[in-house]
Amino acid sequence: MGDLYVGCHLSTSGGFEAMGKTALSIGATTFAFFTRNPRGGKARPIDPDDVAALRSLMGTNGFGKLVAHAPYTMNLCSAKAETVDFARRAIADDFERMEMLPGNYYNFHPGAHVGQGPDAGIQMIVDTLCQVMLEGQQTTVLLETMAGKGTEVGRSFEELALIIESVADKRPELSAKLGVCLDTCHVNDAGYDIVHDLDGVLDEFDRVVGIDRLYAVHINDSKNPCGAHKDRHECIGKGYLGSDEFGGGMQVMQNIVSNGHLRSLPFILETPNELAGYAAEIKLLRSLQQ
Ligand code: FE
Ligand code: FE
Ligand code: ZN
Repeated sequence: MGDLYVGCHLSTSGGFEAMGKTALSIGATTFAFFTRNPRGGKARPIDPDDVAALRSLMGTNGFGKLVAHAPYTMNLCSAKAETVDFARRAIADDFERMEMLPGNYYNFHPGAHVGQGPDAGIQMIVDTLCQVMLEGQQTTVLLETMAGKGTEVGRSFEELALIIESVADKRPELSAKLGVCLDTCHVNDAGYDIVHDLDGVLDEFDRVVGIDRLYAVHINDSKNPCGAHKDRHECIGKGYLGSDEFGGGMQVMQNIVSNGHLRSLPFILETPNELAGYAAEIKLLRSLQQ
C-alpha cells in the first residue's frame, strides 16, 4: 500500500465523523464533500463535537487534507443579480464554516460568464474573493481547472493565474491562501494533453500559475477526447485517459499518481461509482503509484 492520499466525494447526510468512517471503510485517506445543498437555502449548522470526532479520526488514521467542494450551482459571475447574490452569501458563509475544520481546502468552480465575456467574469470573481475572504483564514481556496464547456471561466491556466494574481494584488495577505485544484478530466477536455505529455502540461502550469499553487487533484477519466470541452467524467481506465482503446492505458494513471509534483497531493475521485466502485479505484490507484 502506497502512501497516496486518495479518496472520493462523500455524502454529508450523516455528518462529518460519518464521512471519516465511510472513508476508512473504502481505504480512503482523504475525501471531498459538498459544503451545502446546491439548490440553496441555509447550510446545516455544524456540530463542533462531530467535527472534533472527525479531526481525531483523521489524525489517528493519517489522513491528508480534505477538499471541500462548493455547490456547483454557485456562479460568482452570473448575469443575474440574484444568482450572484446567492453565490456571494454562500461563499462567505462557507469560508466561515470551513474555519471549523482549519487547515483544509475549499474548491470551487470559478463560474460561467454567460456571455458577459471572460474578462468581465474574471473581474466579478476577483471582486467577490477580495470582499469575502477572511483575513487570517486557515482554509486554502482552490480554483478548479475547468473543461471550458459553454462560457466556463477557468478553461486555461492563464485565466486561473489572472484571478489569483488579481486577488493577490489587491489583498496581498491572501496570496498564500489561493491555489488550484487540477481536474484530470477537465484539463484533458480543455485541451491539455496529459495522456502524451503530463510533464509538459505541468511545466506549462508552472510557467503560468506556479507549481507551488497546485494543492489538489480531481482524478477522473474522461468520456471525451482532448480538447472536446465537454466535462463528462468516466471511471478510471474506461475513458480517453486511461483505457487502452481510446487513451494511453494504465500508464497514464500511473504517471499521474507517481508524478513528483502531484504524488503528495490529495487525489479525489469524482468518477461515476457507488462506494464499492470507489474502493476498487482507490485500491487500483494505490497499486499504481511508483
Ligand atoms: Fe468540481
Ligand atoms: Fe472536479
Ligand atoms: Zn467535472
